[in-house]
Amino acid sequence: MNQLNDIIEEVLSKDKRNKFTFLTGAGISADSGVPTYRGSDGIWVKGTRYHKPEEFGTYKYFKENQEEVWQYILFRKKMIENAKPNESHKILANLEKILGDRFHLITQNIDNLHRRAGNKNIYEVHGNYREVKCSVDCKEILPIPNNLTGKDIEEELRKDEIDSLKCPECGNWLRPNILWFDEYYDEKTNKKFSSLKVAKNSGVLFIVGTSGATNLPIEIARTTLKYGGYVVDMNIEDNHFTELLKDKKRAIIVRERSSDILPIIKEQIEKSIEQGV
Ligand SMILES: [Zn+2]
Repeated sequence: MNQLNDIIEEVLSKDKRNKFTFLTGAGISADSGVPTYRGSDGIWVKGTRYHKPEEFGTYKYFKENQEEVWQYILFRKKMIENAKPNESHKILANLEKILGDRFHLITQNIDNLHRRAGNKNIYEVHGNYREVKCSVDCKEILPIPNNLTGKDIEEELRKDEIDSLKCPECGNWLRPNILWFDEYYDEKTNKKFSSLKVAKNSGVLFIVGTSGATNLPIEIARTTLKYGGYVVDMNIEDNHFTELLKDKKRAIIVRERSSDILPIIKEQIEKSIEQGV
């Protein structure tokens, strides 16, 4: 832990490239009862009639099965709305209060729990369920129609819901503003360039509850290292970041649960600020 303390103090004393950035994924929401996407407990495995995410969570599948996909999204929406932010979410919200604009949060989660916990400075790189956009060409991002209600797994869409899910410009289906498995990161939906800029200006990047299975998170960690920042990977096991981080002088691998480490990090940051570092 001494090494962590040193890093925190060094970053606090820097004049530039001194952001504290937290990159979070499904692991942080698992304690709130939101199942992760992958693994034996994954949402795609448990409790649904759907199977492989690579097949179902795609634009290609949506184009042919819009109602079925929306039905599933509204099922998931209900589950997420019933979940509550946990201790780790609360600590991150607290850290934003303590650090002000030096705090950044990049999340792969679309579950809105960070926002509900009180965080504001959030880059949602996989999009979110609060917004929709045209599934064809119209560019505007709209708030999700407010007549849509959360669904049980086999519950069908009502007529008024189907009607409100049509693009006001062209009449085609609206889709959620999220990143599907067969899509690429961009700036409009995914804040790709903004999040890489944040990575560049980070004195330290903490990785919390994500294994880095997609390419942007890995690129974020690589960017922070490239511009002289530290990367702290808090994961209970080896993952996609491990190859990048092992043997790097400015990388620390902490093989403990992030819910155990986050309170220690928060305490240390508070202490260092109190001492006027
Ligand atoms: Zn349209």
